[in-house]
Amino acid sequence: MTKFEDLGLRPEILTAITELGYESPMPIQEQVIPFLLEQEGDLVALAQTGTGKTAAFGLPLLTKIDTAQQHIQALILSPTRELCIQIANDLKHYATHMTNAKIVPVYGGENIVTQYKQLDIQPQILVATPGRLIDLNKRGKVHLGNVRYLVLDEADEMLDMGFKDDLETILQSVPDERRTLLFSATMPNEIARIAQQYMTDATEIAVGTRNAGAENVDHIYYMVQAKQRYLALKRIVDMNPDIYAIVFCRTRQETKEVADKLMTDGYNADALHGDLSQAQRDNVMNKFRIRHLQILVATDVAARGLDVSDLTHVINYNLPDDVEVYTHRSGRTGRAGKRGVSISIVHQREQRKIRTIEHIIKKKFERARIPLGIDICKRQLFHLIERMEQVQVNDEQIDQFLPHVFKKLDYLSKEDVIRRFVSLEFNRFLDYYRDAEDLNLPEKSNNEIGTKSKTRAPKKRGQRVRMLINLGFRHNATPRTILSAINDITNDRTISIGDIEIAQRGTYFDVYADQANQVLEAFEARGGKLTVELVGKRDKQDNVPFRPDKQRTGGKYPDKFDNPKAAQRYENRRRKQQDDRPVNPDKPWRRRR
Ligand code: AMP
Repeated sequence: MTKFEDLGLRPEILTAITELGYESPMPIQEQVIPFLLEQEGDLVALAQTGTGKTAAFGLPLLTKIDTAQQHIQALILSPTRELCIQIANDLKHYATHMTNAKIVPVYGGENIVTQYKQLDIQPQILVATPGRLIDLNKRGKVHLGNVRYLVLDEADEMLDMGFKDDLETILQSVPDERRTLLFSATMPNEIARIAQQYMTDATEIAVGTRNAGAENVDHIYYMVQAKQRYLALKRIVDMNPDIYAIVFCRTRQETKEVADKLMTDGYNADALHGDLSQAQRDNVMNKFRIRHLQILVATDVAARGLDVSDLTHVINYNLPDDVEVYTHRSGRTGRAGKRGVSISIVHQREQRKIRTIEHIIKKKFERARIPLGIDICKRQLFHLIERMEQVQVNDEQIDQFLPHVFKKLDYLSKEDVIRRFVSLEFNRFLDYYRDAEDLNLPEKSNNEIGTKSKTRAPKKRGQRVRMLINLGFRHNATPRTILSAINDITNDRTISIGDIEIAQRGTYFDVYADQANQVLEAFEARGGKLTVELVGKRDKQDNVPFRPDKQRTGGKYPDKFDNPKAAQRYENRRRKQQDDRPVNPDKPWRRRR
């Protein structure tokens, strides 16, 4: 196994990283450090946050800089102020034992005059967000003429955030003979173009792609009724007393609500969302970073700049629509060689999303049961006992009080003392969970993810709604093909479909109102040409034939649909006449004209 000592780093740096507890280089460091120290040329590294990339470029840069020189020798560009600060802090830690190594971060949103002063120390390494760097460069406060190393960190994020033009300006402002190191989690065409245009003979390495980075993550989901999400969240948190987690919500409003409820219920939580001022956001992030907060409830956008590497859990209060967002969220746990858990709280209709995510990230989700009240009481109790066993007894300080305490408890046996001490903590949870209901939706073994039930569920009673699918006689639709299309796409044979009326361009069918959304969502999730839409309510009792709303359908459906059976007979005749036409093998649902 490679050792840091073998990589040619400065001895002061070796001392610092030993103090930080780094035992051996991470894979990206094994590759990038010797490359920078011993070879020439540019580098394109496919690597995401959490792989150790900051040290991978930071340690050799610190080794390479000439601390006797008072000008910028290495420029590191990062997309956000938070990442900028983080990189600078990491580098300062690595440089603790170096004399005269100066690292300064500059970023937007901070008073530029304050940054003038920081720049006065004449750093050798400047960490910057692109916009602020250009501003300072234009004002003549930053000179890039001596830059020998240019690092583009999270290059894909920089492009996503609209820094493309700024990046090009900077790339044109630094000396041609510098070495460029580009780090990116993904490799969109635009990055490849930048590499092509501004880098020479770049060596490419890939370490831990975004999905592989989540190797250490277990994906778990809990299924509850939508209205019981919050109760489920509380149980999950209570079951994990040492949790250090981000709870992701969809909207600012939901973020505020969940965080407020958690705080009111006595949890160590706070919210991070776009309605907060920059100062408030910084404050919350700092509290979370130093673990003064255990739970951060956040929107995806607000959490973007927060880089915390040792989360125990990521909780999806709602599943995101975009799988990439899920991957991003879950990739925030299980970093730096630790195991992490990505939890999703879903309701029954979201099962399909789970399957889609499983398919894309190529990992199985495990369905877990929401703990019962008694499980939580037990977990909390043993957590307390463990804490008691591990507590550091401060003899010196408490010795003076102990004789009084012993005397006061003299009349109690050891068992009684334990019983009371245990009750002290246990009662709190017992009071809350004594009559707590089971939040788990009944297990349906033949309706679990990935399996289809063999039989149709018995018909439910209730309001039915009318839906329209864009498959009709024109596409040779029959009731059987319509049923199998809906079954295939919803993957749920319990959906009861009735009164199928095939029209020229589409087919009407009934479903129970409480299953309509599931059908809509399934078709939406599937994408592609097949679409369904809700066209109205239908009251079976009235036995009124359904008449499509001509305005909705652009008048495409003629009046004959007042009598759908007659229309169907008519279409059947037409179709029969067409049956002899050859079928286009690429589009079997279409007949050649
Ligand atoms: P990064 O990808 O740079 O955000 O690093 C992820 C985390 O890994 C940070 O918390 C680093 O402090 C930590 N780290 C980096 N290199 C090592 C190493 N060789 N051993 C242990 N931890 C490391």
